[in-house]
Amino acid sequence: MPSVVPTIIQPSLAAILALPPGISAETPETLAAWFGARGEPSFRARQVLDAAWRTGAAGPDEITTLPAPLRAELAAAFRWDTVADSGLQLSDGNATEKALHRLGDGVVIESVLMHFPAGPGHRERNTLCISSQAGCAVGCPFCATGELGFGRDLLTSEILDQVRSAARRVATRGRRLTNIVFMGMGEPLLNLDRVLEAVEALNDPKRFGLGARHITVSTSGVVPGIWRLTALGPQFTLAVSLHAARDPLRDVLVPLNRRWPVSEVVEAAREHADATGRRITYEVTMIGGVNDTDLDAQAMAELLRGDLAHVNLIPMNPVAHTPWTASPMPVIERFAATLRRAGVETTIRHNRGQEIGAACGQLAADHAGAPTPAVVAHRRERLIVQSAAALRGERSREPVPTGVGAGVGAGAATGASEGGG
Ligand code: SAH
Ligand code: SF4
Repeated sequence: MPSVVPTIIQPSLAAILALPPGISAETPETLAAWFGARGEPSFRARQVLDAAWRTGAAGPDEITTLPAPLRAELAAAFRWDTVADSGLQLSDGNATEKALHRLGDGVVIESVLMHFPAGPGHRERNTLCISSQAGCAVGCPFCATGELGFGRDLLTSEILDQVRSAARRVATRGRRLTNIVFMGMGEPLLNLDRVLEAVEALNDPKRFGLGARHITVSTSGVVPGIWRLTALGPQFTLAVSLHAARDPLRDVLVPLNRRWPVSEVVEAAREHADATGRRITYEVTMIGGVNDTDLDAQAMAELLRGDLAHVNLIPMNPVAHTPWTASPMPVIERFAATLRRAGVETTIRHNRGQEIGAACGQLAADHAGAPTPAVVAHRRERLIVQSAAALRGERSREPVPTGVGAGVGAGAATGASEGGG
């Protein structure tokens, strides 16, 4: 178990950066330099990386190939684990497992592990859904993380330690993680420097060694971030949370749309697909009577006609404090048929983990304390008014969410990354 500060304080990146850096954010080069500075050979770096990523060692003390004084120095310079596992919840006959992780400042985030057995033509999959931020500034009203608001960016090590934690768990069952999706809490493209560092570690054969096509990063549509990814070339599958093809509705469902409208998001995604040759995945959370109308299906079909794209239609997971529920299955099937008639590849996904609230952020929201009935009533009322106006085609006059500032994800420095110890 890592040594974490047990008291809950305000989420603060500055406070967390004052703690020793997490070992998982170290690269072969930074670790070799750390040993080099102590007059040690560079193969020591490999011994540490193997222990951190492969053997599941619980701490430097278990690296028996390292001399004891070095183990002690390593233990003082780095945090071996930056996430403390503070609870597991199972559902779907134990095939879905939600983990709560307590971070060094007491903030709680989550990851979700999903087991898909082998079937005709495909092997078994163990997919881990990880968080990139504590909370989220985007504020999509059907998403429990959005309701939490923004806490802070996660460190590279905090992103990666969710993976190490799940990898250790599945290893005890004789399994391994096959897919990683950045679809937990937070908007990955608003913490892009660290997300890219994490993806590099996941890809690196000396560290986690997972192929790029087994990693998916999902964005609500941070256009400068998508441009930046396009310039870097294929790194992973890009998923875009579309939810609606018409601006008035998307303004309400994805408030970021007021800054980067749907046409710009899809144009950026199209350029990404053209430049990388990799198909874009569009995610559509199906909300009954809100974004599942024939008009919306037709608008989406026109928007995506002829694109290198795949659409996933996902029934909305119930989230407390919204007036909405999932679209009925026949409505989703009709929506899918409209998209397919336009030549848009479409899959209907069945959501996992409903009974444990595995919808993004839901469980951590439970722990954040419930809002008062008056606040909930006001929120519902506002959403009903807003979505009704959107369905009439009126664009939102609400401001762009705060915390989604200029230049985000566009290469601007997003703050210090973890030090090298
Ligand atoms: N912020 C990023 C990634 C995290 S959210 C994004 O929005 O893409 C990951 C996915 O969960 C998104 O597609 C989001 O729309 C979806 N999601 C959020 N709340 C949901 C709910 N209540 N039911 C179903 N899907 C939900
Ligand atoms: Fe943030 Fe994604 Fe949830 Fe929207 S759906 S609030 S972008 S985590």
